[in-house]
Amino acid sequence: MSQDKTAFDLIVVGGGVAGITTAIEAAEAGLTVALVEKEPTLGGRVARFHHYFPKLCPPSCGLEINYRRMRGNPNVTVFTLANIEKVEGDAPNIQATIKLTPRYTKPVAFDYTEWAESCPVEFDDPYNYGMAKRKALFYPWENAYPAQWMVDERAIGNAEFEEWAKGDPGGGIDLTQKEETITISGKSMAWATGWTPYDPANLDLLGFGTSPDVLTNVMFERLSAPNGPTKGELKAPSGREVKKVAFVQCAGSRDENHLPFCSGICCAASLKQATYVRDKLPDAEIHMFYIDVRTPGRLEDFYQARQDDPQINLHRGKVAKVEQNGDGLVVTAENTLTGDTENVTVDLVVLATGMQPTAALNTLPIKANLDENGFFIQDDEASAHYGVGTAVRPCGVAETLQDATGAAMKALQMARRS
Ligand SMILES: Cc1cc2nc3c(=O)[nH]c(=O)nc-3n(C[C@H](O)[C@H](O)[C@H](O)COP(=O)(O)OP(=O)(O)OC[C@H]3O[C@@H](n4cnc5c(N)ncnc54)[C@H](O)[C@@H]3O)c2cc1C
Repeated sequence: MSQDKTAFDLIVVGGGVAGITTAIEAAEAGLTVALVEKEPTLGGRVARFHHYFPKLCPPSCGLEINYRRMRGNPNVTVFTLANIEKVEGDAPNIQATIKLTPRYTKPVAFDYTEWAESCPVEFDDPYNYGMAKRKALFYPWENAYPAQWMVDERAIGNAEFEEWAKGDPGGGIDLTQKEETITISGKSMAWATGWTPYDPANLDLLGFGTSPDVLTNVMFERLSAPNGPTKGELKAPSGREVKKVAFVQCAGSRDENHLPFCSGICCAASLKQATYVRDKLPDAEIHMFYIDVRTPGRLEDFYQARQDDPQINLHRGKVAKVEQNGDGLVVTAENTLTGDTENVTVDLVVLATGMQPTAALNTLPIKANLDENGFFIQDDEASAHYGVGTAVRPCGVAETLQDATGAAMKALQMARRS
């Protein structure tokens, strides 16, 4: 990674699958690209999944291939822990001011795995949605890019941590590092800022926060993953034995009080997660409550295969509430065709919360052309700013990759126009 470059053809904001692919495709077509990610590592939401459909392979498969392409291409410069604070100018001379947060480490070959275990300071782990603790000296995840240990910013100024860090056996910790601000230029900017899970705290009646055994779909990905808080063992956070699991579709989606749109992916995601339950707890009963199942295109086969599974019970019903009683969690749903009410008691509930565009939640440093839900509108051919992937609409990885190739083409046109 060389961070001395400041002039680029393209600036890509967001290092999920959309941003990574846009950056590589544009770089392989000859453009110089800055890829700017606010988190410590590239990979976005997909990196945190157990498996991803349609092939149900671990996220490391696809990401590793892309990392290799990127490592071999001097046209891409990656900035992580990087927040774009200000954007000025227009095509072909855009200036972006970026704040770089320190990693508080230097890239050394030493493996801190064993020594980090002795670290006396730990914090809630945002990577695992708070379901685990993480040491103040940590490695973001096995396939982190860049592959570097780092210090949690919350440990800076903590006397106990700083005393412990003095024993650093690898010489990589550097607590003197300071925040830096740099300015880079680009001819156009691709905004691949992705999505954020809809906040389940807004869903009053669905039990989130009242029972630890009511999770969201993204938490369930972590709970199932071998590098997650339970090392992939499917356990209810309360300790209760899991014999029955409910998936609650449209938790806050297609609802004017929450997200009015359909995320288009949650039904397939829950069907995929049902396969995790089948693999890990073959005797467990699965109940999926849906308004209608939306699995477009090739995902229909995936749906049909789950329909044939006798352990997977599909219930047409909008879930009205989830309540704890002595025996477990009671899911109450109303059949959307007959109006009948159904109650099913389970041990674990997974809320299929939707994908809210991140741009709806964090103010972007540009006057972006967004729709009422916060997705990018792409109706201005000449605009120097364009969205990519789930910043444009909710979609899966396959569509995101197609989008990214389109964005690289757009970047080429913008660069050639200048
Ligand atoms: C529960 C669930 C399961 C799913 N499972 C599958 C599946 O199995 N298969 C499948 O094809 N799809 C699946 N999807 C959809 C998949 O998650 C998306 O297609 C994919 O994440 C889109 O990638 P992206 O790069 O657009 O967004 P993201 O993955 O959200 O990446 C965006 C990146 O941008 C960064 N960023 C955001 N704002 C800024 C900023 N201002 N500055 C710098 N960086 C920023 C973020 O940190 C992040 O790294 C699932 C979705 C859900 C809800």
